[in-house]
Amino acid sequence: MTTDQANASPAVDSPAADPDCIFCRIVRDDLPSRRVFEDDDMIAFHDIRPIAAVHFLIIPRLHVVSLAHCGEAHAPLLGRMLSKASTLAREQGLADGFRTIINTGRGGGQEVYHLHIHIVGGPRPLGAMLPREV
Ligand code: AMP
Ligand code: ZN
Repeated sequence: MTTDQANASPAVDSPAADPDCIFCRIVRDDLPSRRVFEDDDMIAFHDIRPIAAVHFLIIPRLHVVSLAHCGEAHAPLLGRMLSKASTLAREQGLADGFRTIINTGRGGGQEVYHLHIHIVGGPRPLGAMLPREV
């Protein structure tokens, strides 16, 4: 999927899996991943290019393009993913705190068009969220 296609049609329904999506390939074990958790709804695995000492992703098994493609029907899934983010962050040693990031669409810098939550943190506080533009 191109970024234009992804941004053009934020609809609630998307196919359950996209054969070309790299995260769908991880879900069906067609691509290797270093998993930290999985259940019927979601998978968590280490990011291949970490930006902090701890950096993992939580994705739904379902192919959901982005947060902009979520509706009310996705609320229970999103809630479970966020709740699991907190539990897993603690288990990964981030008892002092962590950052959750969901990049959405071209404007949000999303690179992989399968919804995912980044969980990042490390031994030192992360500091400011983004460099200030002004
Ligand atoms: P985003 O910019 O929010 O779409 O982030 C996509 C993230 O997926 C990046 O941090 C990538 O490093 C990560 N990523 C891409 N391919 C893989 C992979 N095969 N296994 C683990 N992480 C990946
Ligand atoms: Zn997918």
